Amino acid sequence: MGYKISPTGIPTQSGIAVVGCGGTGSFVAEGLCRLLRNSEKDIMLIDYDRVGIENLGRQNFSKEDLGKFKSEVLAHRFARRYGRQVGYCVYPYDPRMVVGSMGGGFVREFSAGLILGCVDNPGARKEMSFGLKMGTWWMDAGNGNNSGQILLGNSTESEALAGGFCDMCMTAHHLPIPTIQLPSLLAPVTVDKQTRQNCAEAVEREEQSPVINQVMASVMLEMVRKFMAAELTWMGVYLNMDAGTFRAVEAEPEAITHMTGMRKDQLVAHGCELDGCHIGRMFGGMPRASANLRPATVEEIAEAVTGE
Ligand SMILES: [Zn+2]
Repeated sequence: MGYKISPTGIPTQSGIAVVGCGGTGSFVAEGLCRLLRNSEKDIMLIDYDRVGIENLGRQNFSKEDLGKFKSEVLAHRFARRYGRQVGYCVYPYDPRMVVGSMGGGFVREFSAGLILGCVDNPGARKEMSFGLKMGTWWMDAGNGNNSGQILLGNSTESEALAGGFCDMCMTAHHLPIPTIQLPSLLAPVTVDKQTRQNCAEAVEREEQSPVINQVMASVMLEMVRKFMAAELTWMGVYLNMDAGTFRAVEAEPEAITHMTGMRKDQLVAHGCELDGCHIGRMFGGMPRASANLRPATVEEIAEAVTGE
């Protein structure tokens, strides 16, 4: 049996932020509003870019949106369409940002428990990785011409990863953030200005799939759905629409040992503070994993079970 990734560390009051409302993010934003149509969870769309003519083919915009802020136009549209508040921010993503407009000039505090990164540049990913708060999960989608990956994590330090897996209730509480899982996400992309300007032409010439962003968005939404239902066992997915492959990376201690060099016994704890983890509860709940804590010993567990 695999480990299920636990969303329980996320503060109840926190919402979900979509960072980047371009090719993937514009579709993720709509799917999220549909997914959360009966939920009170705040949704915040973050993008400082405006809709250009080159965006109409691959992104979730139409002619009437031209020249408008992507995050703002989507927030207004989805608020109407799905009958819920949708927040937006027309400034670059800043981890210190705690307020945003919820539409109609109404500004409120917002804290993200789950950040859906849909950006296409290492700089924005760097911002997300540096500012990640304790208890916040980051799911990152990135794609090439017809392939891509989606990665999920919440911990930047090995101290936080220690004891992140509970082998009693088979739950993963801590996983390395996407940029630790795939360090090349932070590598500078060498795209010259000419190539950038001709991105839309490249789509026209069919060098880029006009559908890859929708594929990425659908897979991301399915991961969000499973994650929030505490059913997700994948910390990552790699897909290639040319090769026809879909590979999920299970959240397993072994996978993390390869990424971080930490030992399996450092990563696995016997008991946690989850309600579902009965052994952990007998200890009065294991404290949150950190460097100076150790997993319970076999003797201690036996003692808790037998009451001796
Ligand atoms: Zn547990």
